Amino acid sequence: MWLLFGLVFLWTPAPAVAQSTLTLHPGVPSYGLDAWLRWYHDDQASRDPDSIMAKLAEGLFDPLPNGNPTFGFRRGAFWFHVRIVNGDPMEPRWLLVQEYPLSDHIDIYVRPTGGYWVHQASGDQLPFRNRAIRYRHPNFRIDLPHGEPVDLLVRVQSESSMQVPLRLFTQAAFTEQARDAQLGIGLYYGVLLALFFYNLILWASLRDASYFWYMFHIAGFGMVLFCLNGLAFEYLWPNSTWLQDRCVPVSICIAQVGMQQFTRDFLGLRNLWRSGDRLCQGMIVFFVLWGIASLFIPYRIATPVASAGVLPSVALIVAVSLVANRRGYEPARMFLFAWFMFLAGTTAFTLVAFGILPKLFFTEYGVQIGSALEMILLSFALAYRYAALRNENERIVKDANEQLEIKVEERTAELSRALDQLASANTRLQESNQRDSLTGIYNRHYFHELLERQLYDAREDLQHLAVLMIDLDHFKRINDTYGHLVGDECLRAAAARMSAVVAAHGGVLARFGGEEFVAALPGLDAAQAVAVAEEVRASVAAEPVAAGADLVKVTVSIGVHALDAYRIAGPDDALRRADEALYSAKSGGRNCVRPVLAAMDA
Ligand code: GH3
Ligand code: MG
Ligand code: MG
Repeated sequence: MWLLFGLVFLWTPAPAVAQSTLTLHPGVPSYGLDAWLRWYHDDQASRDPDSIMAKLAEGLFDPLPNGNPTFGFRRGAFWFHVRIVNGDPMEPRWLLVQEYPLSDHIDIYVRPTGGYWVHQASGDQLPFRNRAIRYRHPNFRIDLPHGEPVDLLVRVQSESSMQVPLRLFTQAAFTEQARDAQLGIGLYYGVLLALFFYNLILWASLRDASYFWYMFHIAGFGMVLFCLNGLAFEYLWPNSTWLQDRCVPVSICIAQVGMQQFTRDFLGLRNLWRSGDRLCQGMIVFFVLWGIASLFIPYRIATPVASAGVLPSVALIVAVSLVANRRGYEPARMFLFAWFMFLAGTTAFTLVAFGILPKLFFTEYGVQIGSALEMILLSFALAYRYAALRNENERIVKDANEQLEIKVEERTAELSRALDQLASANTRLQESNQRDSLTGIYNRHYFHELLERQLYDAREDLQHLAVLMIDLDHFKRINDTYGHLVGDECLRAAAARMSAVVAAHGGVLARFGGEEFVAALPGLDAAQAVAVAEEVRASVAAEPVAAGADLVKVTVSIGVHALDAYRIAGPDDALRRADEALYSAKSGGRNCVRPVLAAMDA
């Protein structure tokens, strides 16, 4: 903005009184005509050179406002007059160049004193080939005989901005300045093309939409300038005045769409500032619609609206990047700086188009200078943003790894807990495999293994070991009398009583099957074993079992087999001998204890 204010105050004021006759001096290769031109607004666009000369004679022509040939978007025809006296005998042929490529119709009328009007026409409503020299600016060859005053009338009528910077060149001077201008233009479009392809490659490899929209913006913007410089007409569609008319507003709209979309994407506006994002979207909708409309509505409406839209559009971008910056989004700063460059340049150019600012190097090429700086800075900003995103990604990956490690630790702990539970469940399962489900004491399978171990230990340590075989007396009768459930209850009660006695003597009781039990008593000799058996028998017979409402008298018969440590056989043999003793207890009247007889032992 300071740049703009500076320009407003610093421009060089025009000479106060315009001179009507321009004398061409020897050795001066070119003349800007601003200081000598006088203008007249033919608002009906109806006059011919003769009637216009009458207006000149009446003194109705004015010097250029502030010395500048810019009038904004105006209807009707503008006439400009200058009288030229060629004081240079070496240069009879001059080139008149209208240094603004977009005027629709430029007609020049040249008349030597007392002669006839010679008419030439150009402008971008005529095919490009009509030009005297194939050049982006309309141009005319003029014969200026030495020492002879010549009247030059220039009539301009255009739907585009009324800008008539006329310049007179010798042929050599024109060639030289065209070279310089062409170099400048080449440099500028070179920068644009390089940025375009650079970002195209980045987009293709990184797949980050920002690069695409940036590219889109460069393409649209480059096209705007290509049209404004008159190069699109020269190189792209020299025969299509229709396209020439449409390309400026349409490419302005394309550039703005790219610019807004790029901004949204670059700043991640959707997450950063919702309403700002909506405004940008609104802007995009406007430019898309206006771009389409521009194909159908006249240039003099389409272009001013599109160019006027550029100012709020850039202002919005500056506003959202200010907000993004304030909200701590680092890459927004350089982004903002880049757009500021562009803003200054474009504003200067737009103000020239509306005739508010004079045409100076910095204002006329404001867009080029500002945009080149902007695009280079934006490229930096993109690179900066890329670096920021990469750092952020690395941080996220690092965080994720840490999280993962914590998760793995948690899972490992859970897993080992589960393994512990599984192990204890397994232990319980094994335990239950060893137990009899009805009575809860050890089962026959377990007892067999236990007895095998105890037999082995007894042999090793030369210890005694006794085996009791126990059977409930007349149990079938109990079942038949009281029912199976009561029978079960009696089995449980008898098992509990016997097990208590056996355990008290360091032995183990197991259910052998049905109503038969078996006990192993390590360290007991025959007499001790018989005593324990007697105690077992008494514990069962002591009192009846209470099963529901019934009191059931239960007794057991017991066979005792005390093993000789020196002659111990296998468990089956030991059990068979105990069973034989039990048989004798049964036949001996039941509810009694019988040891294995010595005779049997033998
Ligand atoms: P003895 O005095 O000669 O041993 O006569 P007993 O009736 O006890 O002998 P027997 O072998 O004829 O009958 C045993 C009965 O035990 C047969 C069977 O129905 C019963 N029995 C076996 N296992 C169970 C059980 O788990 N629950 C119940 N309620 N009865 C069982
Ligand atoms: Mg029995
Ligand atoms: Mg039995």
